[in-house]
Amino acid sequence: MTYQHSYARSIADPAAFWAEQADALAWYRKPLQTLSENPDGTHQWFADGRLNSCYLALDHQIEQGRGEQTALIYDSPVTGSQQQFTYVQLRDEVARLAGLLRELGVQKGDGVIIYMPMVPQAAMAMLACARIGAVHSVVFGGFAANELALRIDDARPTLLLTASCGLEFDRVIEYKPLVDRALALAKHQPHQVLVLQRPQASATLVEGRDLDWHSAVAAANPVPPVKLAAADPLYIMYTSGTTGKPKGIVRENGGNAVALGFAMRHIYGMQAGDVWWGISDVGWVVGHSLIVYGPLMNGCTTVLYEGKPIRTPDAGAYWRVVEQYRVNGLFCAPTAMRAIRKEDPNGEFLRRYDLSSLRQLFLAGEKLDSSTHQWLESTSGKAVHDHWWQTETGWPVTAPCVGLDGSAARPGSSNRAVPGYHVRVLDDDGQLLGANQQGAIVIALPLPPGCCQTLWGDHQRYLDAYLTAYPGYYHTGDGGYLDDEGFVYIMGRTDDVINVSGHRLSTGEMEDLVAHHPAVAECAVIGVHDEIKGQVPLALVVLKDGQGINEAALQSELVASVREQIGALACFNQVRVVNRLPKTRSGKTLRAVLRKIADQQAYTPPSTLDDPAVLAEIEAVLASFARVG
Ligand code: AMP
Repeated sequence: MTYQHSYARSIADPAAFWAEQADALAWYRKPLQTLSENPDGTHQWFADGRLNSCYLALDHQIEQGRGEQTALIYDSPVTGSQQQFTYVQLRDEVARLAGLLRELGVQKGDGVIIYMPMVPQAAMAMLACARIGAVHSVVFGGFAANELALRIDDARPTLLLTASCGLEFDRVIEYKPLVDRALALAKHQPHQVLVLQRPQASATLVEGRDLDWHSAVAAANPVPPVKLAAADPLYIMYTSGTTGKPKGIVRENGGNAVALGFAMRHIYGMQAGDVWWGISDVGWVVGHSLIVYGPLMNGCTTVLYEGKPIRTPDAGAYWRVVEQYRVNGLFCAPTAMRAIRKEDPNGEFLRRYDLSSLRQLFLAGEKLDSSTHQWLESTSGKAVHDHWWQTETGWPVTAPCVGLDGSAARPGSSNRAVPGYHVRVLDDDGQLLGANQQGAIVIALPLPPGCCQTLWGDHQRYLDAYLTAYPGYYHTGDGGYLDDEGFVYIMGRTDDVINVSGHRLSTGEMEDLVAHHPAVAECAVIGVHDEIKGQVPLALVVLKDGQGINEAALQSELVASVREQIGALACFNQVRVVNRLPKTRSGKTLRAVLRKIADQQAYTPPSTLDDPAVLAEIEAVLASFARVG
């Protein structure tokens, strides 16, 4: 199967192409209907198929003779521990945990929130939900109580699973007080909270509500997987939209399983028995697709790493893991490689390790700058591939299909569209643009299997956010262009979403918090360049008249407030007081102009700008954040 041939077939006849891919899956009932369109423009894949994602990830692998193969390697430099689970051991743990969830009243279709650090039990919790048809929603451990509360109120979980703490380098972060605070803030209350006590911190349990994980699981009885419809939701993953309210991306069981089979084999070139390392956190989509479901459903050994690229203990940490477990392929975000490069520019740490098992590295989540790309390729001697996707798609949109024959690369491009994705570029009026013309990147409908087709509890918001701007197309929110051979160049978001260390954040949400400060008349939060993190937020603030507060004091108050309300992951550290913000005559802040100035892109002051003089001050303030090189 060649890339060209697969791609052409996937666009010409998506149903036939994906029916063939679906054939490889161990369904309980093979779907006869591959693709159907709903009246609102969304699509349904494999409507009459029946399957179970946990069965595919564990039981089926055992039936295929992989019971004694290592399924999951837990490597935790922050706690100094390492542990391995065979497929049989992991299945047994998951089946018992699933039995416990059932005993605690969790039914098919119920929401379950998982707020846990990178421990094997987090993956077990996801798989246990999948086993009984509960819909998990993992909330990244770096989110503050308020963010957790928002997600609790939206997902309305029956149960919440957590741990006593997470670890950041040598710092213990107690999770339980955050959970207690979130539950005090939330209107919805889960029936119970299951708490994994870790040796580094002991959580206080609330009588009658909180349960000790170890003793409860030990007393539970294992249960088999249930048969689910392909369209039954597997999980909700909240992501930042352009407003403060996070969007609950819904992933369906059937499409996800088919898509991840295709991705693991044909994009990442992984076979059953290979060792795969998705370097991310279970709290992000990568953690779902490339730590838990993708590798396990495809018979790989997956590495779950509780550590950092540097300082756990040094910039050789990743390479140590590659050597120790003979990792064949890995995924990580560019920010991690920039951090490693800063500490190990000449590759001295890297050269201490035997990387011969590693075939290639895949980077995504944010722009991969060419300098980091070249550095990584030359120091590691391995192929380094940029690829582009989103929480919404759940798997790569553009990528080198190394498992086909599509690995040729172009500098600065995140490669060509993956089979199934008809990527186009449109101008503001929705007209198709030609090669090398920059515009809004869209995907012609139907989206391939695995991509989100609705938002949890708010289908209209899905239609409004993704399908309305350009009828017939899914609106990615990214701008860029395609060259004459179809290589895609992503230039960045065209909306108010920024990407900090590969984490997607809404500037609108931060603006709400900044605007609440009594001294602030108005503000705009934008993303500015950061050497390691890619982007960091910067607040431009106009003070109310007569405010005595100085910039430093205001900054420290606002930084504390964002940290408290959103979490440290926002990396909100910069506040600048300005006299005015650029506005249209009707009073709208010209965000697109601010973004362009921050990115040092050429721009024409829009004719709607009320006073062009205001831009000189903004340019001067933003010059100190200019992208270097
Ligand atoms: P998330 O949903 O958090 O994974 O963020 C998705 C967004 O990250 C995309 O819409 C892009 O703006 C950005 N992104 C992901 N991968 C890349 C890449 N390879 N190059 C440039 N931007 C990327």
